[in-house]
Amino acid sequence: MKLYEYLAKGIMSKFGIPVPRGGATDDPAEAERIAASIGGEVVVKAQALVGGRGKAGGIKFADSPARAREIAETMLGSELKGVRIEKVLIEEKLKIDKEVYVGITVDTRKARPVLIASSSGGMEIEEVPEKEIVRRLIEPPWGLEGFMGREVTRRLGLSGPVAGRVADVIIRLYQVFAGCDAELTEINPLVISGDRVIAADARLNVDDDALYKHPELPRVEEGTPTELRVKSMGLSYVELDGDIAVMANGAGMAMATLDVLQRYGGRPANFLDAGGGASVEPMAEAIGILLSTKPKAILVNIFGGITRCDDVARALIKVKETTGFPVPVVIRLVGTNEEEGVSLLREHGFEAYRTMDEATRAVVEAAGRANPWQ
Ligand code: GDP
Ligand code: MN
Repeated sequence: MKLYEYLAKGIMSKFGIPVPRGGATDDPAEAERIAASIGGEVVVKAQALVGGRGKAGGIKFADSPARAREIAETMLGSELKGVRIEKVLIEEKLKIDKEVYVGITVDTRKARPVLIASSSGGMEIEEVPEKEIVRRLIEPPWGLEGFMGREVTRRLGLSGPVAGRVADVIIRLYQVFAGCDAELTEINPLVISGDRVIAADARLNVDDDALYKHPELPRVEEGTPTELRVKSMGLSYVELDGDIAVMANGAGMAMATLDVLQRYGGRPANFLDAGGGASVEPMAEAIGILLSTKPKAILVNIFGGITRCDDVARALIKVKETTGFPVPVVIRLVGTNEEEGVSLLREHGFEAYRTMDEATRAVVEAAGRANPWQ
C-alpha cells in the first residue's frame, strides 16, 4: 500500500521527523484558509501516487492565499500523469540551501533493509550516478545505529549542527520503516534550510501482508476505477497499455500468457487472473469489463484444473448473447471438462485451440486486422 505524501508526512512527523507546516484538502476555499494560516509564500502540491510531480506540473508556488486557492481549483479534479488529483497539500515554501536524498528499502538479494543516501537530492534516485550514492545494509536485530547515521552524513559532505540533524532523521526514518512494516520509506528532498532540516517530500509504502498488524495506519485504495471494480469482485486485475485483452486462470498462467503474447509481437491490454474455480457469473462479468476497455481482440487462455472448461464456455456464451462479441475472441481451452466445454463453444460459433502457442499467434493476427471500435 502506497501512502499519499500528506499521509506519509503525518506518520513521519509522529516519529519525530520535521515536516513543513501545512495541511491537505480537497476544497479550494480550505486551501486558501490553510495558506493564510501559514502566512507568506506557500507550495501547492498535487497528491498523486506518481513520481516526478515537479517536472509534470504538480508542484506550484503561490505568493498569496488567493493565488493558492486558484492553483488548488485548477489542480483538483485534473489529471497528473493519468491520475486524477483528489487532494492538494498546502505547505510553507522552504528556502532551499541544499537537497539530499535519504531512503530505506529492502535489498531483496541480501535479504536486509538497505539505507540509501545521496547528496544529489531532489531528482529521482534512478537518475543519480551510482558513484554519488551511499548504501549501507542494516542488520534487523541491531537496527540502524547512531554511528551509521553519522558516518553516512559525513559521506554526504555535511558538517556542523545540520549534520547531527540529518543523522537524527536517518535514524528516525528507520524507526518508521520498521515500525510500519514498510517496503520503502523515502525523503526526497530532505531540505537543508539554514539550521533547519526538513522532509520536503515523503514516500511510505507498507507491505500489504503486514497491514493486518497496523489498524492505526490510514488505508489508501490503489488503482484505476476499472481496477477497483474488478478487485471488488475478488479477481486480480492490472491495466496495461496494449490493445489485446487477456484472461487466464492462475497468476502464473496469466503472467506466462503476457510473455508469450509479447513474444509474438502482441501488446497486452491487461493482466487478469480469473482465479481458480470462478463460477460462470463473475467470469462473464470479468469478460464484459475487458470488452468495456475496447481492446482490438481478446485472448482467453484456460488450463482448467479447479476451473471447469464448460463453465468458461458458458461464461463466453453468456457474453456473446448479451453483447454479440464486438471483437475477435481467441480461446485456448484444455483441462477439466474440456470436451463438454469445447462442444458448447462450437455449438455457439466459437473455435477453441489446444495450445497456448497457436492461440497467441491467432490473437496477434486478429488484432492486426482493422480496429472494430473505429
Ligand atoms: P516530486 O517531483 O513528486 O518528487 O515532488 P517534490 O515534493 O520532491 O518536489 C519537487 C521539487 O520541487 C523539489 O525537489 C524542490 O526543488 C521543489 N520544491 C518542493 N517544495 C519546495 C519548497 O517548499 N520550496 C522550494 N524552494 N522548492 C520546493
Ligand atoms: Mn520528491
